[in-house]
Amino acid sequence: MEKGTFPIDRFQQMQTPFYYYDIPLLNQTLQTLQDQLRAHPDYHLHYAVKANANPAILRHIQEAGFGADCVSGGEIQAALDAGFSPQSIVFAGVGKADWEIQLALRAQIHSFNVESIPELEVINQLAVEMQQTANVSLRINPDVGAHTHHNITTGRAENKFGIAMDRMKDTIRQALAMSNVRFVGLHFHIGSQILQMDDFVALAQRINELQDRLEQAGIRDIRHINVGGGLGIDYTDPNGHPIPTFGDYFQTYATHLRLRPGQQLHFELGRAVVGQMGTLITRCLYVKPTATRQFAIVDAGMTDLIRPALYDAYHRIENITSSEPEETYDVVGPICESSDVFVRDHRMNRTQRGDLIAIRSAGAYGEIMASRYNLRRLPGSYTSDEI
Ligand SMILES: *Cc1c(COP(=O)(O)O)cnc(C)c1O
Repeated sequence: MEKGTFPIDRFQQMQTPFYYYDIPLLNQTLQTLQDQLRAHPDYHLHYAVKANANPAILRHIQEAGFGADCVSGGEIQAALDAGFSPQSIVFAGVGKADWEIQLALRAQIHSFNVESIPELEVINQLAVEMQQTANVSLRINPDVGAHTHHNITTGRAENKFGIAMDRMKDTIRQALAMSNVRFVGLHFHIGSQILQMDDFVALAQRINELQDRLEQAGIRDIRHINVGGGLGIDYTDPNGHPIPTFGDYFQTYATHLRLRPGQQLHFELGRAVVGQMGTLITRCLYVKPTATRQFAIVDAGMTDLIRPALYDAYHRIENITSSEPEETYDVVGPICESSDVFVRDHRMNRTQRGDLIAIRSAGAYGEIMASRYNLRRLPGSYTSDEI
């Protein structure tokens, strides 16, 4: 497999570690999404801000005409600052604080994705106080599994997310009886890094079933169906598959989900939009041979990119300044934690102190999850436009 192409001469002069964002690839990805969605005027995309809230990235996504999916007041503020129209913002999360609900009410966002009856009551109460009406969709837990890491499935009955299916009708009736909430839709999200379209088929079929049940109970005219996000990317071969299979993804819903006349379908993709355009650039500090292995110790750690430690995630790792024969390395960071390992038994060009190492497909859940643990500096970030 070929390595990615990077402005290595520029990188040599920069302080590592840092995130590098490939703006032409981001724009091609956004263009592909626009082309796909043109065929479906009833489909709406809200970018999941939690994947990457870098202001430059948010601006490009906003300029492409997409909405925002937020899970905190901070994200709502970041979306507004980046120019997203309040009417394009949806707000999810199991634990919305009062100030976050008030911020969303003040901004008059498109809708709240509500995850429990107590939350519904609080939103209604705060809306009464502010003399507003809140649009709410109910997040239903569809008890659909997804073939992905267990820490990133969200749509099983045992997960903390959403309202159980057997409570759905009662919850809708309660919402309909409240003075200052307007029930506008149903929301779902089954997990992340999903590559098998069958998982989305299962969700579509479950939604069909639930809509039939609601109609039999006399609950009609649900204007919005939101199927969340979760489409995965190819971490093994980012050069071979720089842009996800959006066509298959939208077609899966077009084929399997029975929308009612006038019903609008919403998507909340995060990783699939920004994952492949980001790379974490780090420098090798030391190569340390031991009796059984060879460690390449780099200056980035789990504080800069936590996915391998948190989800056993695989990222393709390349030495972009060496073309010497390959050897086997454990690529590890400097943090005082045994889980601070990017990859074990990895074949990579012979590496020495000072070499630049690219950790690929790091545009989603990378920079945004960085922490200052060990009192480290936060990683830098640069777009290809500024380098
Ligand atoms: C995280 C999340 C998303 C985005 O997930 P991706 O896998 O990045 O597409 C969408 N909707 C909700 C409610 C989420 O929590």
